[in-house]
Amino acid sequence: MPAYQPKTRALCTCRPGIARDNCPNCEGTGQVIDFRAIRALNSHTNPYERLVSLGVPLDHHESDLYVRGTAEAVEIVKASGWSYSYFRSERTGEMGQLWIELPFAYAPWWQERLGAR
Ligand SMILES: [Zn+2]
Repeated sequence: MPAYQPKTRALCTCRPGIARDNCPNCEGTGQVIDFRAIRALNSHTNPYERLVSLGVPLDHHESDLYVRGTAEAVEIVKASGWSYSYFRSERTGEMGQLWIELPFAYAPWWQERLGAR
């Protein structure tokens, strides 16, 4: 019983048969496996849930997570080891406020895209 493998929904270019059985990109499934998604979902370092429970303002664009850069949020993000960068909001009403961008860390996007299991 193979482990659940998120697919990119792209067909693999390998040929069916022995080549496919040994293909590292699709692992025999014929569909390219989304290793980035696997990392995002399975990673214990993803601080998304902790940030949600912290109650700080969050936003996202597709799978990228944005978090208001409060002292507590910065601490959680730094401790998580997830890659991040800072940016300043350009929105009216919060112009210049510090935010943190965490690529691929918005877990609900992955869950929706990959389907609940
Ligand atoms: Zn393949």
